[in-house]
Amino acid sequence: MDHFSLIGGEMHAENVPLARIAAEVGTPVYVYSTEAFRGFARAFRDGLKQVGRHHVAFAVKANPNLAVLRLLANEGFGADVVSGGELSRAIAAGIPAKDVVFSGVGKTRKELVQALDAGIGQFNLELEEEGVVLAQIAAARGERAPAALRVNPDVDAGTHEKISTGKAENKFGLPIDQAPEIFDRLAKLDGIEMRGVAVHIGSQLLGLEPLEKAFVRVGQLLAELRAAGHTITHVDLGGGLGVAYRPGDVPPTPEAFGEMVARVTRDWDVELMFEPGRVICANAGVLVTEVLWVKPGAVNPWVIVDAAMNDLARVALYDAYHDIGAVRPGGAKFVANVAGPVCESSDVFAKGREIDQVVGGDLIVLRSAGAYGATMASTYNSRPLVPEVLVSGDRFDVVAQRIPAEVIMAEEHVPDWLK
Ligand SMILES: *Cc1c(COP(=O)(O)O)cnc(C)c1O
Repeated sequence: MDHFSLIGGEMHAENVPLARIAAEVGTPVYVYSTEAFRGFARAFRDGLKQVGRHHVAFAVKANPNLAVLRLLANEGFGADVVSGGELSRAIAAGIPAKDVVFSGVGKTRKELVQALDAGIGQFNLELEEEGVVLAQIAAARGERAPAALRVNPDVDAGTHEKISTGKAENKFGLPIDQAPEIFDRLAKLDGIEMRGVAVHIGSQLLGLEPLEKAFVRVGQLLAELRAAGHTITHVDLGGGLGVAYRPGDVPPTPEAFGEMVARVTRDWDVELMFEPGRVICANAGVLVTEVLWVKPGAVNPWVIVDAAMNDLARVALYDAYHDIGAVRPGGAKFVANVAGPVCESSDVFAKGREIDQVVGGDLIVLRSAGAYGATMASTYNSRPLVPEVLVSGDRFDVVAQRIPAEVIMAEEHVPDWLK
């Protein structure tokens, strides 16, 4: 199901040559495949066929582009948002407010009000005080906010430490052993309807065991809460399923995930919620970049490309691996470093990697860039904000324009006292 493949020796996204997009839009540019998004979305849904009542909310932070959100809304996905900005995007993309879950450890009062105004489906609370404040705001409006308690099960997700969220020392969720008393106190408040629990232990999980451990623990909590007289109708099992970045990565299939969930949750009698991000979009996008120079290096040559860490931060941020290939591979390979122009030694996409042999002017792609790619882009080094293109069959559309440094500069201002 790879929609980025060589046709006549040249890499295409679906039926569009990447070189054509590069020529018309310029580089660097993210290119997404409509069919790939759809395929991953449907595979995830199919995997959950064995699971009872459930609802899938796409984790917007993985790829918040409006066109992508619309595409997934058309597939029946809701949204998991972590800011007022993401909430605005979800609504603008046509996702019904009732299908929106608001996660995150630092929601502001303003964002809580925005979410109440929108009428979202569920607030995932990260601490007791947040619930108290939400209940006050909602009660003053004569409303009851639907809420779940996000618990931290103290499970090691076995993923990179910077994308782990379910260990006791992480900032996320509240300690699961304190959940019953906190739930109890919050459930007594007017202005809040405590209806469930939520868990999300981390991202890019390549094994199901940590997830199963966390879900089993949540099942015990569910029984405890019910024994204490609470009505629990919703359990949010979060996201985190990993994807293949390196050749040889074998992530759990959606079927295997669904089988595990169905087994663990068989007797729960709740509506389950899922918040997949990466698994829906990572392999639906590539970053296309032009080779500027091949610079001799002390150990290996440096392939200097026009994309940089400001366009794709994952490598600098958490040592991520992106497969790299030429858009028109000639067959020859060489061992090289691949780096961007940004003035930071961490602006390196690959070191000592065997890749297609390239020269200045060639195009290359960094694969698996559809999740946590463009969304993390910045304008560091006063570089433009990277554009995004969505392909469908033999057509494409620029779904996010390149924002030039001059446009960003226009929002800045020199105070009078310096004039
Ligand atoms: C980031 C995040 C997700 C999505 O994680 P993926 O690994 O991309 O599936 C889901 N839920 C919450 C609360 C998150 O913070």
